[in-house]
Amino acid sequence: MGGFYVLEVGAFAQYKFGWFEPFGRARYAKTFPKCPKCSGPIGPCFWLPPHQVVIKQPKRIGDFVYGAGGPDLLVSQRFRDGYLQSKLRGVRSTFPVVVSKLGSKSSSRKTRKPKLFGVYFERPSTRVLHSRMGVHWDNRPKRGYCKLCGPGGGGRGGTLKSWKRVMLDERTWAGHDFFFPINFAGTLIISDRARLFLERMGLSNCRAIPCEVASHSFYGNSPT
Ligand SMILES: [Zn+2]
Repeated sequence: MGGFYVLEVGAFAQYKFGWFEPFGRARYAKTFPKCPKCSGPIGPCFWLPPHQVVIKQPKRIGDFVYGAGGPDLLVSQRFRDGYLQSKLRGVRSTFPVVVSKLGSKSSSRKTRKPKLFGVYFERPSTRVLHSRMGVHWDNRPKRGYCKLCGPGGGGRGGTLKSWKRVMLDERTWAGHDFFFPINFAGTLIISDRARLFLERMGLSNCRAIPCEVASHSFYGNSPT
């Protein structure tokens, strides 16, 4: 099966590659990805057309474009075409987005706009083992949390402050190469095959961090 990696995509404060926001008034479906056990949300509400975005800091636009309020990520045509030709699994859907604005200037006809796609990844019932991740809780899980989408995820499941590593329960892996674990919904995990694919394609603005060393803290950089 090989190892697993956290896919880190450069976000707002990197000043290197652009990131996105929905342009204009974004509309959302009333539906969201649900836990098959408790029907609780395991992802944000789906973003509805028109899929218009503004790209901030657009000097360089990577093959992955981070943002909030839209799909999981935006990707380049290179990623999308490469993925479709690969045998990899885990992209649930892709759709074209309209780049309505680049940076703070209103859409300039002189600037060539990149062709970008929104992407949603799969959210299977694959779980992480919080007990082996060196986690610190902001709010500890309460009795009666859902045993499929919890602990973690807010509410009774509790909220995390930091973790030292990411440990997948490999018995629950369903063969996806890109996915969000059901009880670790904010972290995109990729397989070794996906890592090799990204490396071979030389895709920009992404970094595969081995799960064993993928630490994170919501309060500064080093987990305490
Ligand atoms: Zn649940």
